[in-house]
Amino acid sequence: FSEEDISIPDYTETQLLAEAYNQMLVRMKALDDSRQEFVSNVSHELKTPITSMKVLADSLLMQGDAPVELYKEFMADIAEEIDRENKIINDLLSLVKMDKKAADIKVEEKNINELLELIVKRLRPIADQHEVELILETFKPVTAQVDETKLSLAISNLIENAVKYNKEDGWVRISLNSDHKYFYVKVEDSGLGIPEEDQEHIFERFYRVDKSHSREIGGTGLGLAITRSAILMHRGAVKVYSKEGEGTTFTVRIPLSYTP
Ligand code: ADP
Repeated sequence: FSEEDISIPDYTETQLLAEAYNQMLVRMKALDDSRQEFVSNVSHELKTPITSMKVLADSLLMQGDAPVELYKEFMADIAEEIDRENKIINDLLSLVKMDKKAADIKVEEKNINELLELIVKRLRPIADQHEVELILETFKPVTAQVDETKLSLAISNLIENAVKYNKEDGWVRISLNSDHKYFYVKVEDSGLGIPEEDQEHIFERFYRVDKSHSREIGGTGLGLAITRSAILMHRGAVKVYSKEGEGTTFTVRIPLSYTP
């Protein structure tokens, strides 16, 4: 072959460059779109409780001399909206923290059995309130290199959901197991289940399965996004298995030793 035969003509190089440039533009646009969507979601979520509080306050003011009971009732509703606003802000702050670089993860060798016992102890009052039974099953002692705060938040979110989206007299079973490389936490519930078409979306920020129903139950739609980020920071994975009307199982897999 002569050199001419094997050299790539100039226009091809230009085309390649143009193609790479186009791809970069498409990616930048997608990033910008998702950022814009996030900001608009955040604004919407933060505005909802404020709108409710404004309506409640205005209608109280219009009442003139309303009985004390009515004031109390409206004030209780306003306090509830303030709690909701607080929860959204706290969840957003957690999410922002998780989104920072993995360098922010502080791993230490921890006893995972004890960590789960502590989480379950903290959540038992909430479960009692919902009349849901919490069962913890640990098959063997497990120690692993984890960021205690982040992992606790991730697992707590899963258990809280399993309690919230449960039935009366339902149960939540948390189990711990391990092999030579990973430990596994399973959170199983006897709850409402998640429709198949929603399962791939539930880890997205602000995604809720049934908006009206979920609002009634009270949540921000950020819990599972936080959980997923925390688990990914540990180089782990989380999966969901669910059947509508029967229940849901989340499985978390985390390496026993952390690799930066
Ligand atoms: P939320 O704050 O609304 O609970 P999450 O991000 O924690 O937000 O969960 C997203 C949605 O996934 C929830 O609104 C709910 O519809 C659904 N979901 C999560 N966990 C469960 C579960 N264990 N059982 C049934 N539905 C669940």
